[in-house]
Amino acid sequence: MKVKPEEKFKGKGIRKCRLCGNARALIRSHNLYICRRCFREVAADIGFKKYG
Ligand SMILES: [Zn+2]
Repeated sequence: MKVKPEEKFKGKGIRKCRLCGNARALIRSHNLYICRRCFREVAADIGFKKYG
């Protein structure tokens, strides 16, 4: 798994899912900051339907 250098230790460290705290498969686009699993759960609420 590749990690972009600028994503390693930059910023204030919001690297965990806001909902479950999982830091893996985090979705940061759209300012979501939630993991993929939680994203699927909230996708319907925020209007995403293609994802998962
Ligand atoms: Zn989550």
